[in-house]
Amino acid sequence: MAAYVAGLNEKPFRAKQLMQWIHQRGVSDINAMSDLAKKFRATLLDKAEVSSLPILKDERANDGTRKWLLDVGAGNAVEMVFIPEDDRGTLCISSQAGCAVNCRFCSTGFQGFSRNLTAGEIIGQLWFAEHRLRKDPEAIRRLEQYPTPGYEHTGRVVSNVVMMGMGEPLLNYDNVLSALRLMLDDRAYGLSRRRVTVSTSGVIPMIDRLAQDCPVALAVSLHAPNDALRDQLVPLNQKYPLKDLLASCERYLPFAPRDFLTFEYCMLDGVNDSDVQAKQLVQLLKNIRCKVNLIPFNPFPESGLKRSPPQRIQAFSYILQEAGMIATVRKTRGDDIAAACGQLAGDVVDRTRVRERDIHDTQIQQQPVQWLDKLDK
Ligand code: SAH
Ligand code: SF4
Repeated sequence: MAAYVAGLNEKPFRAKQLMQWIHQRGVSDINAMSDLAKKFRATLLDKAEVSSLPILKDERANDGTRKWLLDVGAGNAVEMVFIPEDDRGTLCISSQAGCAVNCRFCSTGFQGFSRNLTAGEIIGQLWFAEHRLRKDPEAIRRLEQYPTPGYEHTGRVVSNVVMMGMGEPLLNYDNVLSALRLMLDDRAYGLSRRRVTVSTSGVIPMIDRLAQDCPVALAVSLHAPNDALRDQLVPLNQKYPLKDLLASCERYLPFAPRDFLTFEYCMLDGVNDSDVQAKQLVQLLKNIRCKVNLIPFNPFPESGLKRSPPQRIQAFSYILQEAGMIATVRKTRGDDIAAACGQLAGDVVDRTRVRERDIHDTQIQQQPVQWLDKLDK
């Protein structure tokens, strides 16, 4: 913002004023920015626009979860979700339209990759949600009853941000970094580093860079306790295998805002949820301070996969806990509006081409999809 303002031959303090109007007060009408000189406002009106991505759909689940579908152009769309809880209000935002990593259990991956979101499009999600929710009577009623951190002093509704929507944030590093810095900046949203989480499928070089540039909370999507299975579930593992991934996690820990990392593990019936696999996971993670978050798989029609039964998830989690690990089972929210992890589809494009390309890619890689064979039996 300072560079932008300097480019317009304005004094640096104008940058701060603009930041406050836009991010803290949620004002998009440049004419309403009353302490800016008339001439500067006229210049801005000519050259700038304050807006979020256009909203295509706004849905509300019975449990208070909100989901917005945002237009990213060329027939593509992304989604973001707000999850109110008693002690926090979490906004889950997207970093890319589609995703190239193509994890087998993820509907975003199934769509293929369309494009990176810009820094503005990423922070614009927080901008829109925060200021829209401040005007939402239901959200405010909840907050009066259960004030979340920041609400009483600043009126802030979104207390936590997780980059767990569509896309792989660390494959859109520069734009994600700019957006993260705005989330933390006191002149913008002023969130603490422990309340902002980047979730990654394991892009090792960028985990190292994040540790230096902006070490927010890190969640690593593991989903398998060995390379053979992870190669199948998270194809990026073929490039960045588990040993190297865990070494990069160890390097991140000293920079992390808490003294542990989170590993996400999506529970897939008959694929990665056996007792043996739980014990392997214990061995794999025994030397790293971490919490394991078990996510019951959220099915989508094309996946051909099933969610592990609740008793299986409990048994798996018990094995981890018996070994002294912290394991939690993620609550599924927003079921009635398909707002749960991995269900963010958003795409409004005809998917046929993407599917054809997927099939083509699979043939080129000649990857035997053994676990799918197993399911067929
Ligand atoms: N690309 C990043 C962040 C977005 S996905 C990543 O993979 O970490 C956020 C989380 O949702 C990841 O842990 C991902 O593995 C999980 N997820 C994806 N599809 C899912 C599904 N169908 N059911 C449950 N969790 C899923
Ligand atoms: Fe991409 Fe994450 Fe989905 Fe994998 S789980 S395809 S990395 S969005």
